[in-house]
Amino acid sequence: MEYRSLGKSGLQVSALSLGSWLTFGKQITDEVAGQLMEIAYEAGVNFFDNAEIYANGQSEVVMGNLLKEKNWDRSSYIVSSKLFFGSSQAKPNQKGLSRKHIMEGCHAALKRLQLDYVDLLFCHRPDKNTPIEETVWAMNHLIAQGKVLYWGTSEWSASELMEAYLVAEKYHLIGPTMEQPQYNMLVRDKMEKEYLHLFKHYGLGTSIWSPLASGLLSGKYNQRMPTDTRMNTDGLEWLKERTLQEQWIEKTCRLTELAAKTGVSMPVFALAWCLKNPNVSTVILGASKTAQLQENLQAIEAVKQLTEQVLEEVEQILQNKPEQ
Ligand code: NDP
Repeated sequence: MEYRSLGKSGLQVSALSLGSWLTFGKQITDEVAGQLMEIAYEAGVNFFDNAEIYANGQSEVVMGNLLKEKNWDRSSYIVSSKLFFGSSQAKPNQKGLSRKHIMEGCHAALKRLQLDYVDLLFCHRPDKNTPIEETVWAMNHLIAQGKVLYWGTSEWSASELMEAYLVAEKYHLIGPTMEQPQYNMLVRDKMEKEYLHLFKHYGLGTSIWSPLASGLLSGKYNQRMPTDTRMNTDGLEWLKERTLQEQWIEKTCRLTELAAKTGVSMPVFALAWCLKNPNVSTVILGASKTAQLQENLQAIEAVKQLTEQVLEEVEQILQNKPEQ
């Protein structure tokens, strides 16, 4: 496994990590969740990603039980949670980024995870109803209490992040260490354009999500619609509509041919491409089956297959490189 610094922080995070969205507590059994964590940890993965909203809290319950059962040294792994959405039944103060929800949401996540602290706590989305100042102070409060080690954001704009840095500077507080944006061959703007000055001037770290565009970039939707996948799950019709776009499938078909020529499978090719970006601190993998995770972990080795020439051929197919 390769380890990267989480931005300018001293934290070393495995270049590949494991997330639990839609899988833990939902699509897969707890037994499979345990096997995924075991495979990941054995391969050197040290970061497990979670959020209060995943499976309405159940994803944290499952991960907490598994961490307890596995009894790994607490200092050997990193766990995150994310606050903002609350639960599907959330009342007004049970969501958002107010001091109240940040404090109460963090305590509830720690209880579900059966942990004394989370290493990373993300603001899952920006909250237009709360001054950023209040959020930055609340996060610093949790850090001072030892309940959170580093705080960050997810899908914030560069200007919202800037505002957080300015507040932190003004009051001598700790600003965001990391952001969690979507990043894959099909969605590139934040990582390759919008955040560039934040990487350079603030040392922002990143844990990127949906590196396979929810499975599309595995190539399995190229010719047919397989069953038993995320895209067939009841309630996820919105995701299917957003993801299975004709032009994206066409590009994936051509990328699949290029991947084969390069000697790696399509999912491994797409993940290795994400790893090539030095501003990516960690690529969060998702898997519903152990075989998928075993395959995806090969991405570290595959990075060297992505020569300048291969990358150029990728650009020819994608035609979506953000202008800087
Ligand atoms: P991916 O885009 O990699 O999608 C993962 C899914 O793709 C798997 O669950 C599986 O779904 C399919 N898949 C994975 N590997 C293979 C393979 N080798 N062959 C075929 N199919 C494969 O990542 P996620 O969308 O799951 O995101 C990763 C993590 O990022 C999440 O778990 C979460 O922790 C985080 N996240 C954060 C968000 C945020 O707002 N901050 C939003 C979304 C995710 P299936 O078998 O069902 O088809």
